Amino acid sequence: MSALQERFRLSELAAREAEVERDVEAAGLQRFAALCRCLAPIRVRLRFRLDEAGRVQVQGWCSVPLVVECQRCLAPVERALAAEFACTVVGSDREASRLGADRCVVLLNGDEAGLAQLVEDELILALPARPCTDADCPKAPARAFPEAAPGEVAKPLQALAVLLAAPDDE
Ligand SMILES: [Zn+2]
Repeated sequence: MSALQERFRLSELAAREAEVERDVEAAGLQRFAALCRCLAPIRVRLRFRLDEAGRVQVQGWCSVPLVVECQRCLAPVERALAAEFACTVVGSDREASRLGADRCVVLLNGDEAGLAQLVEDELILALPARPCTDADCPKAPARAFPEAAPGEVAKPLQALAVLLAAPDDE
């Protein structure tokens, strides 16, 4: 059985504050896999607990090396993705809105869930929006400050060299 086929009983895991660690094949997360190419299985660690109202809280860490396409220059860019999140499991939109907009929620029907339901949205959110750094993307917008011309590069050691080359006064 692959890690994605496994079903977890969330309230039971939360009641004993369990921790789950799995390696997940990205191909099984279809929405996520459509956005990038993972170079290894996704390392997923989840910690479950109950909050003061008895709701299941899921704290998660996911990491995977992957390749995404820069949306400006279309070049493949390699990145180490690291997602960290803390969500409350809710059973309805009404319950979610009661918690407030600033609370991360996972909407689930029932007490059982697979890893895809728990981590896929978080992985998608963690994908870099601008994978190229400005320095190596040829399509990056112009810098606010022009780069210094080669002749203008500061040479802090130059003054020292002059002092060392000066003849002794003695
Ligand atoms: Zn780029």
